[in-house]
Amino acid sequence: MIYVAGLRQIVGDDWVITERGQMERYLVDETALAVRPRPADKVVLVKPASSQEISEILKLANTEKTPVFIRGGGTGLCGGAVPTQDGIVLSLERLDKVEEIDKENLMIVVQAGVTLATILEAADGVGLFFPPHPGDEGAQAGGMVACNAGGTRAVKWGVIRNYVKGLEVVLPTGEILNLGGKLLKNNQGLDLMNLMIHSEGILGVITKVIFRLYPKSAASATLIVSYDNRHDAIDSVPKILQSGVVPLAAEYFERNVIETSARYLGLKWPATKGNSFLMIILTGDNAEEVYGQGEKTSAVCERMNAVDILMAERREEQANILKIRSELYSSMKDRYADIMDVTVPPARVGVLLDKIDEIAKKYGTEIPTYGHVGDGNIHPHILDKIKDMGLVKQIKREIYQEAIKLGGVITGEHGVGVIRIPDLDLYPDDTGWRLMRGIKTLFDPNNILNPGVGIP
Ligand SMILES: Cc1cc2nc3c(=O)[nH]c(=O)nc-3n(C[C@H](O)[C@H](O)[C@H](O)COP(=O)(O)OP(=O)(O)OC[C@H]3O[C@@H](n4cnc5c(N)ncnc54)[C@H](O)[C@@H]3O)c2cc1C
Repeated sequence: MIYVAGLRQIVGDDWVITERGQMERYLVDETALAVRPRPADKVVLVKPASSQEISEILKLANTEKTPVFIRGGGTGLCGGAVPTQDGIVLSLERLDKVEEIDKENLMIVVQAGVTLATILEAADGVGLFFPPHPGDEGAQAGGMVACNAGGTRAVKWGVIRNYVKGLEVVLPTGEILNLGGKLLKNNQGLDLMNLMIHSEGILGVITKVIFRLYPKSAASATLIVSYDNRHDAIDSVPKILQSGVVPLAAEYFERNVIETSARYLGLKWPATKGNSFLMIILTGDNAEEVYGQGEKTSAVCERMNAVDILMAERREEQANILKIRSELYSSMKDRYADIMDVTVPPARVGVLLDKIDEIAKKYGTEIPTYGHVGDGNIHPHILDKIKDMGLVKQIKREIYQEAIKLGGVITGEHGVGVIRIPDLDLYPDDTGWRLMRGIKTLFDPNNILNPGVGIP
């Protein structure tokens, strides 16, 4: 590999790794094993410390036409960070500085390798709040922007896109581009910054991010609402929103799934009645405001036949409930062949779940499903006891088809990555794909950055 010497010159010998044994964890992400792409054989891992070094690396790779796979926290769920061709894995982990917390403008400036955990802690340390919360706090700023991550708090606060105000990006040709700034309004020219958000690393390497912060909510409470009937649970959510309450989170799951996660953590799921649950997190400026929202929400849920409502107010109690929800994925990890990420208009989630049940019955399996019901975004799990991968593919396609019929998409937050490329043919939108391919070529004429990711 002729470019290894060049890489060593740019970042120093210590930061270029060629031994396979020392890079195993950089060859995978959190995608389910059964569908995770296989990493290529000849891979070099490089760990630059600055945008300038990244620029030099990309200039070299572009000249040599060497594929470069960008690696953030490796928490992605669709194989986007897996090096599927011989080439370079570019890890952002050394760009790990919080450069500034600007309390006056309510902004935080971070290098791309700063993790979500660090951002949350840094904001909290000055009494501010970073609203988005995709489930794994090991995700990095750059990775969250590249994936436009969502998470449980999106009902009230929306996805990462809403918080990105500025970006520094290194283009595949090595040019360094600055987009946006500490600005709340910016209508200058075409919006390249928003093009970069959710570009899944195919247009440039994000090296720095300016995120907007908000004052912390002074009070919060978590409701667990239990139902005997799933439709009552799901149909409660639009009614809660129509009542004027906008919860921080509105999550749906069923008893078998949530108890698996509680057991995995050595905790106990507190609700004893019902089989279908909503977890509703309410926030406000003071306890009375949250209490008022709780009363309104409870009234709606009772009208929708809730069989029990628990309200957790103590911080630790709320944290445990959220932890049980957040670890659902990890607790089921060893049991599934794929985790899906379909999204439909929020009021159609119940219909989609019925369709998923019909598909499960047709193939004689279960498809445990939970998710961000307030956003219409749910995660059906295909169990790994279906050994036949052809059948896994067929079941997924049928679920995708049902979601599309309901006006949905095959991925709402995890992205296309590598694993969802084969199903994009369900959208025969030649004009859209042609334009996207044209944009890719404009940014990356030699197709070196994350080839095979994001677009067909
Ligand atoms: C337990 C668990 C829970 C999760 N919950 C959620 C959730 O609730 N909501 C949600 O949206 N996601 C969720 N995810 C998925 C994942 O955390 C997000 O997609 C996250 O944004 C990925 O960030 P990362 O830094 O780990 O990126 P990686 O996994 O390292 O990379 C993901 C993609 O982004 C690209 N990329 C990474 N860094 C950069 C960069 N600096 N510049 C350009 N491209 C880059 C990679 O090449 C790859 O294509 C969850 C994952 C796990 C394991």
